[in-house]
Amino acid sequence: MKIQNSCLLTKFIHRLHTEPNSPWARWVLAAHFQDKDLGDRSAFQTRAWKQVSEFIDLYRSVTCVQLGDGVTTSLWKDKWTSNGPFCTQFAALFSHTNRPNISVAESWENGEWSLHLKHITSDQAELERITLISFLNECTLDPLTQDKRGWRFNPSVNFSVKNLYLICNWGFIWNSAAPKKGKIFAWLMIKGRIKVRAVLLKQNIVNSDLCPFGCQDKETVQHFVFHCRHSKLILDKLGIQMNGYVEPEDIYIEANKRLP
Ligand SMILES: [Zn+2]
Repeated sequence: MKIQNSCLLTKFIHRLHTEPNSPWARWVLAAHFQDKDLGDRSAFQTRAWKQVSEFIDLYRSVTCVQLGDGVTTSLWKDKWTSNGPFCTQFAALFSHTNRPNISVAESWENGEWSLHLKHITSDQAELERITLISFLNECTLDPLTQDKRGWRFNPSVNFSVKNLYLICNWGFIWNSAAPKKGKIFAWLMIKGRIKVRAVLLKQNIVNSDLCPFGCQDKETVQHFVFHCRHSKLILDKLGIQMNGYVEPEDIYIEANKRLP
C-alpha cells in the first residue's frame, strides 16, 4: 500500500515535468519554487507538497530524457545523455555546485554554460569541469521542442505509474532479508532465465516440456518453483525458499505480462 501511494505521488511529479505550462504546474512552481529549482527545498512547504517533493529523485532515477528546450530536465540529476546522470559521472564536480537541481535550460546563460560552482578545491573536480564543459559545448537546445521523457529501462516506453509500481515491487526482492542466492534466483525467475523444459522446448533443445520427475505436468517456471514437489526438495537443499518474504507467484505472473 505504501509503495502504491508513493507511485501515485510520482504521477504528480510526472505531470510537473510533462505539462509545465498547465495552470496546475504553473501554480505549483510559482508557489513553491520562486527563485528556486525544482527539487530544492521549497520555501512554502505544505504537508502535501512535502510528500510529493520527496519523490522527485525517485522519478528522475526511473526516467530518461531526450533533450529539447531543457526546461524540465535537471542538468545534474536526470539521465539525458547516453552516460549516467552527471551527478554520478562527475561526482567530485557535483559536490562544488550551488544549484544541484538547476535545469539544463537555466544552465545555458548568455551564450555559455554556467555550472554555478563554488571555488574548486581539487584537481579531480577541475578535470571534471573541463570534461563536462567541453561535452556541454557540443550540446544544443531546441527552444521549439519540449523535452521528451521516457522510461529509463526502455526509453521508447512512456513513464507510467503501473511500471513504476512493478519495479518498486521487484526492488522488494533485493531489499528483502532473503539470502543472496535466493534473491538472484527470484530475479532470474522474473526475467524468465530459469532453463525449465518449457523454455528449452521452444529453443528446440529438448523434445518434450513434461516435468522430468514424472509429475505429468508441463515443466514451466511456475511448476518448477511453486508446484513440483520434487524440485521443491532440491530448492530446499539449496537453501532457497521462495515463500515467506514475497509473493513470487504474483510477481511472476505480472512479470510475464510485462517483460518482452
Ligand atoms: Zn514436477
